[in-house]
Amino acid sequence: MLIGGIEGGGTKFVCAIGDAAGHVLARERIPTTTPAETLRQSVEYFQAQQAARGEKLAAFGIASFGPVDLNPASAHYGFITRTPKTGWSYVDVAGAVRRAFPGVPVGFDTDVNGAGLAEHRWGAARAWQTFVYLTIGTGIGGGGMHEGRTLRGLIHPEMGHLQLPIRADDPLQRGVCPFHAYCFEGLASGPSIERRWGQRGETLPPDHPAWDLEAHYIAHALLDIMTVLSPEGFVLGGSVMHQRQLFPLIRARLAALANGYFVHPRLETFEDYLVPPALGDDAGVCGAFALALAALEES
Ligand code: ZN
Repeated sequence: MLIGGIEGGGTKFVCAIGDAAGHVLARERIPTTTPAETLRQSVEYFQAQQAARGEKLAAFGIASFGPVDLNPASAHYGFITRTPKTGWSYVDVAGAVRRAFPGVPVGFDTDVNGAGLAEHRWGAARAWQTFVYLTIGTGIGGGGMHEGRTLRGLIHPEMGHLQLPIRADDPLQRGVCPFHAYCFEGLASGPSIERRWGQRGETLPPDHPAWDLEAHYIAHALLDIMTVLSPEGFVLGGSVMHQRQLFPLIRARLAALANGYFVHPRLETFEDYLVPPALGDDAGVCGAFALALAALEES
């Protein structure tokens, strides 16, 4: 069985062919230019792959940059909604694939929810039914899974905009989010690190005070999410989390902030409670594959 996956990003669409085990058999990067051009090239890639392999794709999954409309009852279901990306507001991404491949199930979700679903199916969250996947990089996004299903609601979760108190010794006067003075993304994303310290995070040494402050904000956000969702664990991905020294710092800070309140053996040291993703650079594409398989299973 072959499935098609699209990791739809603001700079490129990665189109890939996979098998039922989530292995990437082929992939192609298509620049995100105009919706008409990018979607046409994506469809043509899959048509060419089908012809070359002599096999129809059984399902598609689209893990898209957001914001997106995930409400199946909405007229804009499967659309990217209002986005600052020029020309991409209210574009029917899922519909373009559905019209090109009639009758084939198409799964559609945020890139973050997709990555979380893939970590659940094949990666670091296989043992968990209720957990949160966070990506901390240029932006911050959170995908939640509750009892084996991705969390959706009126809109999709926007955990990057959790409101956090600024720490008194933070050199920033306010965070970098244009909407909120003090939110998770504004205080802990890659651009906030660069604004605060005048250089990019990956150029800062592992013992730089930047990481203690970063761990503080991440731990604070995790604590807030824990109090609401009671996840069995967190998968922490994204470019900022490539700084692996953050993991022990966050665990220690989380233990201090929790202050002994949570009573569970796994919440004493948080050792296996905060883990890096297992799928690495394939997380986006595997997310699309996981959405395709979920759509196939539901159809
Ligand atoms: Zn914000």
